[in-house]
Amino acid sequence: MSDFAGKSVLILGGSRGIGAAIVRRFAADGAKVVFTYNGSQGAAEALAAETGTTAVPTDSGERDAVIARVRESGPLDILVVNAGFALFGDALDLDADDVDRLIRVNVNAPYHASVEAARQMPEGGRIIVIGSVNGDRMPVPGMASYALSKSALQGMARGLARDFGPRGITINIVQPGPIDTDANPEDGPMRELMHGFMAIKRHGRPEEVAGMVAWLAGPEAGFVTGAMHTIDGAFGA
Ligand code: NDP
Repeated sequence: MSDFAGKSVLILGGSRGIGAAIVRRFAADGAKVVFTYNGSQGAAEALAAETGTTAVPTDSGERDAVIARVRESGPLDILVVNAGFALFGDALDLDADDVDRLIRVNVNAPYHASVEAARQMPEGGRIIVIGSVNGDRMPVPGMASYALSKSALQGMARGLARDFGPRGITINIVQPGPIDTDANPEDGPMRELMHGFMAIKRHGRPEEVAGMVAWLAGPEAGFVTGAMHTIDGAFGA
């Protein structure tokens, strides 16, 4: 376990699923944690009470609200951008406004949050964004907008690593495969299809993703930046 005592951590999208596991992990390791939520106020407040963290409402689809939240939370030692969602359906049928909102939440918010965090971040700062193995491999139809958004994060990390590297700040993408959350429950209808692509035929657990995030945020990972870190049971292999 890493020791994050005294570290200031902001997690965008921490009320449920993978984000909640990341909140729990950093809180258990002694960090001072603030996390955002959008729709799940009750879950966010319960998690904050359980973990001794602070929950604040911020819609990742609202650029200026995201930038303001990051600025007001700074200086941050660690920023984690987890908020994200998928749209399912034929690209010819999806509503253009829904696709644009997905891009605002999954791409624009991580970019603007990362840049804003870096303004105040001290040497040794860490930025970690939750992408997806679908940034590398999209084996089913109906999810092109999601694949687009997660592959965009790869270019962002490569570029911002160059911008922030001279200040000792790292930026990395964690790319999960199927993880058992509300968004992708292991007992859902896609289970057999997804497990068919995998070498380890189960969904991952949010805590497993949180463990990778914690390592990237810790002192052993100071030489790791501009990189994608896949945790997917070989879904993308
Ligand atoms: P969930 O739907 O279970 O949880 C999503 C979390 O993100 C919630 O805390 C939600 O908060 C928050 N969130 C979503 N939209 C917004 C928004 N506009 N503003 C603020 N917060 C928001 O998803 P997962 O935990 O499964 O996914 C988390 C991340 O991991 C996403 O980026 C997803 O793309 C990625 N991922 C997930 C995989 C999986 O199989 N589960 C696989 C690969 C990647 P609230 O409920 O309060 O709105």
